[in-house]
Amino acid sequence: APSRKPLMAGNWKMNKNHLDAILLVQKMAFALKDADYDAVDVAVIPPFTAIRSVQTVIEADRYRIQHGAQDVSPHASGAYTGEIAASMLAKLGCSYAIVGHSERRQYHGEDDALVNAKAKAALGADITPILCVGEGLEVRQAGGHVPHVLVQVDGGLAKLTAEQVRRTVIAYEPVWAIGTGEVATPKDAQEVCGAIRTRLAELYDGGVADDVRILYGGSVKGGNIAGIMAQDDVDGALVGGASLDPGEFVKICRYRD
Ligand code: PEP
Repeated sequence: APSRKPLMAGNWKMNKNHLDAILLVQKMAFALKDADYDAVDVAVIPPFTAIRSVQTVIEADRYRIQHGAQDVSPHASGAYTGEIAASMLAKLGCSYAIVGHSERRQYHGEDDALVNAKAKAALGADITPILCVGEGLEVRQAGGHVPHVLVQVDGGLAKLTAEQVRRTVIAYEPVWAIGTGEVATPKDAQEVCGAIRTRLAELYDGGVADDVRILYGGSVKGGNIAGIMAQDDVDGALVGGASLDPGEFVKICRYRD
């Protein structure tokens, strides 16, 4: 049987300055126990400006919380004003970089080719990309969500080796469920996450498909996480709003209780 360790990743989006960020990490760390980290990987994904502070507090106090970035440049270095290279994130101890979040696709015109280049850049620096995919409301209402998401998966993973895909995390985030309070039903989440895993087996092999962690994201809270985690192909959550509340995020990490 596959032994995928669940991942609960908190995407803070454009919230928390570096001092607020330290406080939030400390509050989480006081609540979380070794048994929590043994059961799930816990990650915080602050804005770029807070990553160094988060790294410092985690290392100084030996917290077992992991951290990551919300985006990464597809380029290695050079004349790309405003961008952050994967090597810079690696130097800050980042384990993860989100690529292709729906807010980047929507407001910054990111397409699958760019998202793919970002995933490659992250992997090249030994950072795990969290590749976000998900359909909008119109596609969902027309019943086209599975093929829509699979096109994003194919495009986002294009030309990655099986070994690179094995190290990648995929997050299924239906756009209509992000920040809306409207969570997908556990069955909806399983339908798409299951289809993604089947696609991975077709593109690579069953071993790769068994290893890849597939997260659900979209209005996850302490009160709805258990049903979602009970699904066979859901291996964790990418959490926005609720990750800013340490009590709520810790509840999500303890979905088994
Ligand atoms: C997200 O943006 O990744 C997300 C899932 O947001 P929320 O939990 O706030 O819906």
